[in-house]
Amino acid sequence: GPLTTAEIREKYLSFFESKGHLRLPSHSLIAPDPTTLFTVAGMQPFKPQFMGAPAQFPGYGENRRVTTAQKCLRVGDIENVGRTLRHCSLLEMLGNFSFGDYFKRESLTWAWEFLTSPEWMGLDPAKLYATIYQDDEEAFRVWTQEIGLPEDHILRFGADENFWPADAPKEGPNGPCGPCSEIFYDRGPKYGDDTWADYAETRESARFLEIWNNVFPQYDRQDPLPDGTPVLADLPFKNIDTGMGLERIATVVQDVYDFYSNDVFAPIIARVAELSGKPYEGPQSLSHRVVAEHIRSVSMTVADGVALSNTGRGYVIRKILRRASRHAYLLGLREPTLYKLVPLVVQAMGGAYPELVTEEARVTAAIRAEEERFLKTLESGMQRIGGLLDGMERGAILPGEEAFLLYDTYGFPLDLTKEIAEEYGISVNEAEYAESLEKAQETARASSKYGKSELFGGTQEALEGLSPTQFVGYDELEARGEVL
Ligand code: ATP
Ligand code: MG
Ligand code: MG
Ligand code: MG
Repeated sequence: GPLTTAEIREKYLSFFESKGHLRLPSHSLIAPDPTTLFTVAGMQPFKPQFMGAPAQFPGYGENRRVTTAQKCLRVGDIENVGRTLRHCSLLEMLGNFSFGDYFKRESLTWAWEFLTSPEWMGLDPAKLYATIYQDDEEAFRVWTQEIGLPEDHILRFGADENFWPADAPKEGPNGPCGPCSEIFYDRGPKYGDDTWADYAETRESARFLEIWNNVFPQYDRQDPLPDGTPVLADLPFKNIDTGMGLERIATVVQDVYDFYSNDVFAPIIARVAELSGKPYEGPQSLSHRVVAEHIRSVSMTVADGVALSNTGRGYVIRKILRRASRHAYLLGLREPTLYKLVPLVVQAMGGAYPELVTEEARVTAAIRAEEERFLKTLESGMQRIGGLLDGMERGAILPGEEAFLLYDTYGFPLDLTKEIAEEYGISVNEAEYAESLEKAQETARASSKYGKSELFGGTQEALEGLSPTQFVGYDELEARGEVL
């Protein structure tokens, strides 16, 4: 049969070991630097090495070539889960890194070898395509002359697509960055009749799937000049940073419709169908997918020590779990159920991430407790929001106080309310929501000063939680989940 996800991960790491790389373990999902809440890419733990720090890894050795399978959580992709068939909130990024050692030529030719050699992934070279940064003639030359990729399999894009992080030339973040070259796989007409040339216009395709990004970090993005001019200083040397989504390459290699049908997710989806009595019917079964994907990210993050809470990382995880709870509810599940999926996550991921095995009991208990807590108000909250939205026209705006009440009384995170409202074509007045939250927090703070902290019931959440300014910044943080 086709390679399993575990076999693909192992092949990747041993391929790069055979090219002189040191294999290092995944860093925790808790980001190694303060630019994001969670680790969002394989390169993140290696920023110091890209900036010129010695390539020394205590306990493992010294090497300017490194390879990892890094667990990542992308907050900006949470809402994509279920909607697109290519985004996970938790993904494993396979990466090879060079700290001032090899550069574009080796990076691209080894990527090609790994993907096409029958000994490794054995993909059909005719189905591979690449994008490059607009004026990157070096990458163009390697692709066309050294690798032999036809010119009509290459597209050139600007920073939005082919610079990483994409916003580095504009608003930041500061740090290592550079142009990149992305590799796509043509999944064939079953997924659409668009062509590679169409992709230049649409930038979105179910057929042409991005599988691997080869980044060439050679700049250190610094604070812009007073007049706003961006500053991209040269790093001490040129680096390589690549990232291939394991879920995506597994989907391609296993030739399944999407990652929900690969060997990691299929058993979880099947169990969701069994527990709910609702069969999985492919792309239209949104709720099965959200539940299966989110239970994996919540389990992995809780195993890394994140406790569900009302601030920061803990609140991101609470939001993911509550989104999954609502989808379990839509599947007719009225009792805590998500925690029953944890053993399947452990089975799929525990081999590569042993912390899941040792933390299984704690993870299960945390998820079950959160489900019990949310299920106390979920049903009445669903009735409340359903009643409100049923009485409104498409295009209307839900008042912020209503969204706040849903948060405060029923435990509906704003994102959940927004998502449900969107299903009715209705948006939420977020500025009003922020005002209501701020007012409630002031009252809660004042009352707690006089020892009456229980006065505010559900606003206890707001009290322990976000300050108004933090709240306003939250969407920004979410966006930053995408990039460093
Ligand atoms: P996309 O355009 O599909 O959102 P991206 O350009 O944001 O992907 P990169 O930041 O270049 O992704 O990350 C490197 C690789 O990691 C991608 O080529 C892809 O294989 C994988 N990847 C990125 N985001 C996700 C995700 N949310 N789920 C699964 N795999 C992902
Ligand atoms: Mg992309
Ligand atoms: Mg990319
Ligand atoms: Mg993306």
